[in-house]
Amino acid sequence: MYSWRYLEYRYLHLYTSDKLYIFKIKQILYNRESNKGMSSESEEENKEMKIIMLGAPGAGKGTQAKKISDKYEIPHISTGDIFRANIKNGTELGKKAKTYMDQGLLVPDELTCDLVVDRISEEDCKNGFILDGFPRTIPQAECLTKALNERNEKMDYAVNVDVPDENIISRMSGRRACLNCGATYHIVNIPTKKPGICDRCGEPVVLRDDDKPETVKKRLDVYHAQTKPLIDYYGDQGILKTVDGTLPMETVFDEIVKMIEA
Ligand SMILES: [Zn+2]
Repeated sequence: MYSWRYLEYRYLHLYTSDKLYIFKIKQILYNRESNKGMSSESEEENKEMKIIMLGAPGAGKGTQAKKISDKYEIPHISTGDIFRANIKNGTELGKKAKTYMDQGLLVPDELTCDLVVDRISEEDCKNGFILDGFPRTIPQAECLTKALNERNEKMDYAVNVDVPDENIISRMSGRRACLNCGATYHIVNIPTKKPGICDRCGEPVVLRDDDKPETVKKRLDVYHAQTKPLIDYYGDQGILKTVDGTLPMETVFDEIVKMIEA
């Protein structure tokens, strides 16, 4: 015979373990539900963002591309990086590109496009990516459109960081560089402590040939002839977003975020 106390204990014990058991099942089901909820929510949040950055050299599109890349966790893709990676890994496309580069020739549009399409097919680009420095010409843009069409995809936004030539020329002519240690300054934005003298090593700072108005003007002419037509090209596709690139960097970024989240 069991005492009541013992039976009562058994009952409570069973009851407690049953309760625990039920609690555990509930917990598993709850976690499963909430995981489901979470993943569908993040799928909504991670709407695809395939972005092209447009703008003159010196307009600051590289800086903005990097900030967008950080905010939305999508890769920032520049053709320079793609060339370097393919050459380093000795891919077929990389070998082809290298033969042109070794001769000091421009890599043909079609090969550049193949390299970019190859890169954006990688797993890390499935939620989007930002192209910086590509397409540079109308033939490159047409090649990209065609390649995406074949995959039933398209670009979502072409962000044009608009800065008048005069502003770019004056921005660039304010740059100073130390040829000894590589430090860079700007007479207005990042001045040296002592005028004309590198903070880091004490050598004089200079205006590099690349930043001299005549060199900048030449680069801007090439931009106007080859790359600026892309603004109309993507305008016609209905994905162009233009931002005033003369505003402070943070404001430009906020404007871009507003435009692509609208
Ligand atoms: Zn220095």
